[in-house]
Parts: sequence; C-alpha cells; structure tokens
Amino acid sequence: MSARILVVDDQAANVRLLEARLQAEYFEVCTATNGADAIAVAKAEQPDLILLDVMMPVMDGYDTCSRIKDDPATRHIPVVMVTALDQREDRIRGLEAGADDFLTKPIDDVSMFARIRSLLRLKEVLDELRYRESSSALAGISGDVQDDIDAPARVVVVSADPRATCRFAAALPSKAEILETHDPAEAIIAARNDADLLIVDLTSPGYDGLRLCARIRSDAATRQLPILAVVRPADVQQAVRALDLGVNDIIQRPVDAGELAARSRTQLRRKRYADQLRSHLDEGMEMAVTDALTGLHNRRYISSRLRQAMDSASNGGAPVSLLLADIDHFKHINDTYGHDAGDRVLRDFSSRLQTGLRALDLAARYGGEEFVVVMPGAGLAEARIAAERLRSSIDGSGFDLSDGTSVPVTVSIGIAQAHRGEALDALLRRADEALYAAKTAGRNQVQAADNAAA
Ligand SMILES: [Mg+2]
Repeated sequence: MSARILVVDDQAANVRLLEARLQAEYFEVCTATNGADAIAVAKAEQPDLILLDVMMPVMDGYDTCSRIKDDPATRHIPVVMVTALDQREDRIRGLEAGADDFLTKPIDDVSMFARIRSLLRLKEVLDELRYRESSSALAGISGDVQDDIDAPARVVVVSADPRATCRFAAALPSKAEILETHDPAEAIIAARNDADLLIVDLTSPGYDGLRLCARIRSDAATRQLPILAVVRPADVQQAVRALDLGVNDIIQRPVDAGELAARSRTQLRRKRYADQLRSHLDEGMEMAVTDALTGLHNRRYISSRLRQAMDSASNGGAPVSLLLADIDHFKHINDTYGHDAGDRVLRDFSSRLQTGLRALDLAARYGGEEFVVVMPGAGLAEARIAAERLRSSIDGSGFDLSDGTSVPVTVSIGIAQAHRGEALDALLRRADEALYAAKTAGRNQVQAADNAAA
C-alpha cells in the first residue's frame, strides 16, 4: 500500500530519521518543521496521513492537530501524534484534539507500520465515499456532514471478565445503549443488529477474540462496524495482529476510562460521518434514476437498461421488445382541469401501468405524457398482449380528480421488437412510428412496428 505521509517535527534530525524509515517502505514523504507549515502543507499536498510531533515551540502538536481537524479541507486526514511521554493526560488531550492515534518515542517500526496500514485502509474507504459523493447528483447540496456527539449509539462489549465489562460500559457516552456478552456467537448477532461500535477484550480467556474480529470483518453486514480491541500491555504482536485483521483501534490494559471514552467517541464520530456520506449517496443515486412525479424510472436510466438488453439480444441472448405509450389529448386535460389534475392523471396512469407489468419489465416516464416499457425476453406477440392489457386498463375506468369528478383517459401505444445489431435510436424511431400510426388511426389502440429487419 503506497501513500504519502507528512512528517512534522521541530528537530530536523527526527524528520530525516522518520523520512528514511518511511521511504524504505516505499511511502512518499513530505515534511514540515513547525505547526503553521504543517497546516499549510496538509492543505496543499493532501497527504494520506500525518505523523505529528507533540512537543514543538510556538504551536504545539495539540493545537496543530485541532486546526487540521477543524478545517473541512483536511479533517479527513488521519493524524498520529508522536510523543516522548506516554502519560494518560497527554493521550486524552490528543484524542480530544482529534488525533487518531499515538506513537511513543522511540518509535518501534512494527507498531508504526501496523498503525499506518490500519489508518490508511480506513482512509481509503472514506476517500471512496467522499469521491463518489462529490461526483453524485447531490454534490454540494448535502453540505457539511453533521456531527452530533450526543446522538444515541449501540455499543456491543465483549469480555469474559464481568468487572472489566462494567468498567468499559461506565466509560461510554451516556446515551449509548450497551449490550454486554462473553459469547462470540451472541456478539455477532448483536453486531449485525445495527450496532455502532464493537469493543472486544482480547485479554479474556475462554474465547478467541481475534477470530471474532476476523468474522466481523468478513461478514458483509458488519464489514464497516468499528472495532476497538483491548490488548495486553506491551504485547506488540497481539496489537499488530489485531490491526492487520482490520480492528480500527486498540487500547491497552489496564484500561483508562477517559481514554476509552475518547477513543470510542472517535470511532462513533467516524462511523456517523461514513453513514451520512453513504445515505447522501443513496439519495443521489435514487434521484439520478427516478422520475420525481411518478416514481417510475427516468429517461436516462431506462435508456441505459434498454441498451444493455439490446446488447444481450444482439449477442444471442433473449429478445427484447419495447412499448412506447402516449396519453391521448393530454393537453386537453391540463387545459380543462389544470396542471394539478394533469399531474394526478400522470401518477394514476403510472400506477395502472405498473400493475400490469411482469416482474422483469421496466417502466419509465420518458417525457411529458410519454412512457416507455422495456420488456426483456419478450417478442412482439407478448409485447402486443402487454400493450393491449395497458390500453384496456386505462380505457376501462375514468381517472378521479381531487374534486370528485372523473375524466375518461385513453392511451395510444406503439410496440417494436429490437433487431439484432439495431441501434437504440433506430428501435425508438420504429416504436415512435408505430405510435404515430396508432394516433392517426384514431387513438386508443396498439400498433406494431414493421418487424422486417431494417
Ligand atoms: Mg519536538
């Protein structure tokens, strides 16, 4: 995994040392020797991770970290604080400034690279979401993702030591709903049930905590669930294995309540951020494929699906047919009863249209009062049956308006089956000619396109 890392330290010798070790592992490195430079370089170079010295003159590491995390242009970049002292207060202060983790000087390579790999993996997921959101239909509309520290959260705590479980639970945010268990099977069920954070005690005998973490990571339903693992002090190997399995963060025994609280908050905040990006993305996707008035697919979506079905038919797959339907004298409905009545007719028309479709068929509002149905696997004879069913369901009973009156509506339909190798435009043109023939022959009827190969 190659990535660019920003190394910040006021001692040039420390910068050079870290730079050499990172470059030996094929990381790209940029550097800064004070807080102000670090902020500027982070913004301009957009590194994938920042190693930040705590003790620096003028602006110290905490202050630098807070500013990096306050700026929307840099807040997604993981920050690892490098400290000479390993004091509880320092760690909590750093976590509160938004640091993602700590390394203690002198830095041991194994721990450092395990941490870096873990944070880079997480960043990759967030970057992908950020990228997809910025290129989606909702770009710019969603604005800043909200961060609600007090939002309720579901936390699953797994430990075989009931006293430890109690202490962990006491440290969690007050609005957290906590489920405690020492049974990995129960933990998996709880994790799948909309959990926001999983805390696994890897120091408990009686179950294999690392195996539980691996199962949570390999299950599609829980792949994104943050895991905070409790490890034995000074057991670098256990910590590294946990991080390499995809555990998001580790904390050493004896667990400090303040540190556990701060690390849990960081994980919950990151998960909420990712969840919000994902939900914006889902809305964007929905908007991009759906017609707002009728809820049917839109023209862009149906065109791409039609092209796929035609490609498959041309390559020896099942045939594909098309219905092009246009409501008769729709302008008259709009002019006589108003646009609200017109919209109501369009919605009712859409629901009658959908009622008569097979599961495979795809219906779209193609424009104004024009609708398209793509029928994969259907020849012209089946398309004719479907079109006639639609025609009679529209003609069969009037459309109710909001004032209680009912208006008669009819539809004209052209149908066509795709020729092998035919272009999308050519098929649509033939369906449109058939529709025109239905209109000129008196409306409220179905006409088929000439099916001789063009
Ligand atoms: Mg220093």
